[in-house]
Amino acid sequence: MCQRQLLDAAHIIPDMEARGDPAVRNGLALCKLHHAAFDSFMIGISPDYEVFVREDILHEEDGPMLVHGLQGLHGQAILHPGREADWPSQDWLEFRYQRFLQTT
Ligand SMILES: [Zn+2]
Repeated sequence: MCQRQLLDAAHIIPDMEARGDPAVRNGLALCKLHHAAFDSFMIGISPDYEVFVREDILHEEDGPMLVHGLQGLHGQAILHPGREADWPSQDWLEFRYQRFLQTT
């Protein structure tokens, strides 16, 4: 879903929090657009690695950037790193996803 040249390492649990480990499993490779969208709870990722777009964003009408950049992600699965040991932690995703649900 992301342009390789624009990739950031996004934290599932932010750095400044006690649980915000700089571990591989606390990371998501997201481009700058989706990193910002994830950090501001416009998109959420469920513990089973499915992307959800916030309800109001999903129904907003604002042209092709929104349609392809965000709305089209709804219901898509994220790609996993090759090694299962590096997959994003489902516990941390769950923790973060609960917050996403609270913003919707
Ligand atoms: Zn992206």
